[in-house]
Amino acid sequence: MEENTQTFHSGFVAIVGRPNVGKSTFLNYVIGQKVAIMSDVPQTTRNKIQGIYTTDQEQIVFIDTPGIHKAHNKLGDFMVQSAMSSLKEVDAVMFMVNANEARGAGDNYIIERLKKITDRPVYLVINKIDLVHPDELLPIVDSYKDAMDWTEVFPISALQGNNINELISTLSKQMPEGPKYYPDDQITDHPERFVVSELIREKVLQLTRQEVPHSVAVVIETMKSNDDGLVNIQATIIVDRSSQKGIVIGKGGKMLKEIGSRARVDIEHLLGSRVYLELWVKVSEGWRDKQGILQSFGYKK
Ligand code: GDP
Ligand code: MG
Repeated sequence: MEENTQTFHSGFVAIVGRPNVGKSTFLNYVIGQKVAIMSDVPQTTRNKIQGIYTTDQEQIVFIDTPGIHKAHNKLGDFMVQSAMSSLKEVDAVMFMVNANEARGAGDNYIIERLKKITDRPVYLVINKIDLVHPDELLPIVDSYKDAMDWTEVFPISALQGNNINELISTLSKQMPEGPKYYPDDQITDHPERFVVSELIREKVLQLTRQEVPHSVAVVIETMKSNDDGLVNIQATIIVDRSSQKGIVIGKGGKMLKEIGSRARVDIEHLLGSRVYLELWVKVSEGWRDKQGILQSFGYKK
């Protein structure tokens, strides 16, 4: 039931670019140093979380927006539509190109879309500088210069790591104050995590009736089994306002206790093991601002 007073910055960064420009290599480099949480993050097919970079002060969630890479087709409309809405909600966009290739039609296609659908800061990231002589780099930078109003241009090598720390620190500064959307430890250990958080959320909504809005979120901080089979779960219930925090905790903690014991019964049933559940309540307005984008990962209903 504590509130974290230290300011934390967090947000979403879309990485866009033609195939083979080095998006995955970049993420592997960045996430390889930190916490890798990828394949099992619950999500719909609309957007894909590619990696999450977390430190004590910030969290950057890198996402892929498939719609923007593709030309139109029947399904494409829907994809483009969702790419558009997520590009409106991200905190920054990284547009990645190859240092050893001239600007081409594929790049132009993405640039045109970006211009239309986002008012977010767009960083031009020129990757694979290890493949070109510094003299060859300038004409490439020049060829992109007027294509769009870039927030900043970063020549990098995702393979060798050149200039990546600078890029990450610039992106970090761009992130608004916000909550830690995803826990530090691996989600992949427990694919049930999402279901567990939904069971807790359901109890909050059932027991508080209309008093706590649907935007309430539950983050599973830890989920570990003991040797004797007991599963320890720590979860944070995130609400928008302190008045809602009071409702969720209840008089003398009565409501929170009830939420916990009801959720525990369901979780034990789900996991088939005994559960020790610890619940915390935190107020975070930032969470609500990102409701749309979180929804697209299946985090909200
Ligand atoms: P994606 O399709 O955008 O995800 O691109 P990948 O990350 O799969 O990279 C495509 C190819 O480019 C792979 O063979 C990578 O090893 C290579 N690559 C990526 N970044 C660099 C780089 O900075 N320098 C060099 N030399 N090769 C790179
Ligand atoms: Mg890739």
